[in-house]
Amino acid sequence: MYKKAWDIISKSKHITLISHINPDADALGSSLALYPLLKEMGKKAIVVNMTKELPIRYDFLPNIDKIKSALPEKIDLLISFDCGSIDRLAIKKPDAFIINIDHHRTNTLYGDINLIDAQAPSASCIVLELLSQNDISLRRDISTCLYTALAEDTGFFCYENVNKNTFEIAARLIEAKADPVFIARKLNERNSLAKLRLISIMIQKLQLVNFGMIGYAILSRDDFQKSGALRSDSDECVDQIRSLATVELAILLIEENEGYKVSLRSKERLDVSHIASYFGGGGHKRAAGFTVDHKDEKEIIKEIINKADI
Ligand code: 5GP
Ligand code: MN
Repeated sequence: MYKKAWDIISKSKHITLISHINPDADALGSSLALYPLLKEMGKKAIVVNMTKELPIRYDFLPNIDKIKSALPEKIDLLISFDCGSIDRLAIKKPDAFIINIDHHRTNTLYGDINLIDAQAPSASCIVLELLSQNDISLRRDISTCLYTALAEDTGFFCYENVNKNTFEIAARLIEAKADPVFIARKLNERNSLAKLRLISIMIQKLQLVNFGMIGYAILSRDDFQKSGALRSDSDECVDQIRSLATVELAILLIEENEGYKVSLRSKERLDVSHIASYFGGGGHKRAAGFTVDHKDEKEIIKEIINKADI
């Protein structure tokens, strides 16, 4: 499959690299890793993400300034990264061959070729496998993108998806000049005061139920306005809820134009990807999400808690 995918890449001219809306490091890093390679191969390569404002903390990723927020007119090949279902690309499906590179267990296999490995700790590990199997050598710009993606998706090598192999991959990327200290500082030590204020508001609103096993909070548009925080500043809030000693299930609702974006996290037992799939979303065992339109917030929380059954 990896050879076939590279063969198609080699034969295509107009290639669009795209990742899911509200992107994280894995989405952006995985798509940006291939960009300079394709350019060197003489391709008309374009990186797209349909999110209006990309999170500023990824500004150090090589070629981040090249990302466009609209599809080009001509696409022979669309490669999607870190995206479990095609709706999360937020585009009209183009008339093009699709390679789907992802590690979500809930991936709907919407590609013509699907390079899916639910055991992979990040989509960037699958990109690395694609490069390795086709004897493409790594270098600093590529390894920086792939390492950043891996580091964030593993919670800096703390989550359950981490094993010996993860550290071996990290070592390979560091050998190819990814700088782990530089990347950690760029990601973790550039918070805005607005972001910390948002976390503080979230903690004030946090509720614990079921003997403290479930923690939930709801962030309104007003909370963002009061704190001055951006949408991407809420990314860590749900992890803060999970960090509580008693919590097995963390739930965060963020008010959006038409309804709510819901983030779910579990610690040791619950498979939250099942809960998210039930509501039309998806994700991983310990991190998943979905969106709901026009529903009462208390009702959403109640339904999730019922479904979780803990
Ligand atoms: P987050 O809560 O950080 O937005 O997402 C957690 C995980 O669930 C990520 O891997 C993300 O890609 C996935 N996810 C979040 N929202 C959705 C959704 O609406 N649909 C699907 N398929 N996956 C989602
Ligand atoms: Mn990912």
